[in-house]
Amino acid sequence: MRATRHVPAVVGLCVAAALGLSAAGQGAPPVPRQRGPQLPSATIQPGQECPAGMTEVRPGRCVAPEFPPPSILDYRPRSTLVTDVHLVPKAKFPVVDIHSHTGPTAESIERLVAELDGMGVQVLVNLTPGADPAAVKRHVDFIRASKHPDRFRVFANVIWDGAGGAGWAEKAVADLEASVKHGAIGLKIAKNLGLRARKADGPRLRVDDPDLTSIWDTCARLNIPVIIHTAEPQEFFSPLDYTNERWLELALFPERRNYMPGSPTFADLQGERDRMFAANPKTRYIGAHFAYYGNNLGAAAALLDRCPNVVLEVAAVLYDFGRQPRAARAFFIKYQDRILFGKDAYAPNEYPYYWRVFETADEYFDYYRDYHAFWKLYGMNLPDEVLKKVYYKNALRIAPGLPQQGFPR
Ligand SMILES: [Zn+2]
Repeated sequence: MRATRHVPAVVGLCVAAALGLSAAGQGAPPVPRQRGPQLPSATIQPGQECPAGMTEVRPGRCVAPEFPPPSILDYRPRSTLVTDVHLVPKAKFPVVDIHSHTGPTAESIERLVAELDGMGVQVLVNLTPGADPAAVKRHVDFIRASKHPDRFRVFANVIWDGAGGAGWAEKAVADLEASVKHGAIGLKIAKNLGLRARKADGPRLRVDDPDLTSIWDTCARLNIPVIIHTAEPQEFFSPLDYTNERWLELALFPERRNYMPGSPTFADLQGERDRMFAANPKTRYIGAHFAYYGNNLGAAAALLDRCPNVVLEVAAVLYDFGRQPRAARAFFIKYQDRILFGKDAYAPNEYPYYWRVFETADEYFDYYRDYHAFWKLYGMNLPDEVLKKVYYKNALRIAPGLPQQGFPR
């Protein structure tokens, strides 16, 4: 089912044919003429949109370009803006990356540490060592025996399928306790809880299902945080039409399309998670990816005001802060004790985009993935004390199992 409310009602289509959408616009660009021909045009009433292939050039008057327009893939305008550029290869203060899926191996550890040093990342937290306590132990033992025991930490995982079944809670709690005993410093929950995980008797396992209470109670008792990834960016749950700001990404990645009959909506998942936060005030939660409220800072503020046990983490939503630098700056200053740094995908060439957005006042610069964001980023110019809290101070408080030494006070 596609949205229908944007179908334009054309009033006067002057030249109906010859929109010239001939064989793709590759190759040499057309040679412009001084005086073009009469172009296809249309008139519209206030509130109406131009027909496809036209744009409004004067109030009420739509015209089609003389040449076939490039696709969104091929249109790559060069900015002529001349302005200050402050690249930030290394963060100003040491950083805890609380959201990674990379951990060291014998082959990678020296390279990893050199890369982390170059970026200013002091501790990398691998959230996905597995639900098996023996696997967690192998990860932790390797880190402890390495030459860099203070540079890495791991969280634990739980297998959600089968929740509510006989013995599920007992085993999940026992495994979690064992993982923490072996050195895990938190619990990571992936998006499959809410989207795909099933209860023992078949239905979708809701994020606020009371059968999960024993897990939340265990985390509170063990004094470990729960980092939870619920839902996906809002537009992943919207129809894949030309008004969707993530159209290209959804066209490239079929598995990210969550607009499907019978599937939970964005509001369903956000609501379940936020009710779960409120119902378990003794458990500390980290909302991964800013709980997908980066595009709605008012909702983020309401959540933080309502739930003192919740903090947010910035992984993979930088494009939402960078497109509203003034509101984001005000939010980060007001909620400076409630925001943690995380990156998710480990890519050394991508971290500096975060430092540049957080630390500088640069304007109108590119994000690192075209398909994420059809817009430019702007720096937030955060004060040093806020940077320190976001980069490491808040993480050290929320996750006491992090190495507490080696950071400026
Ligand atoms: Zn992740």
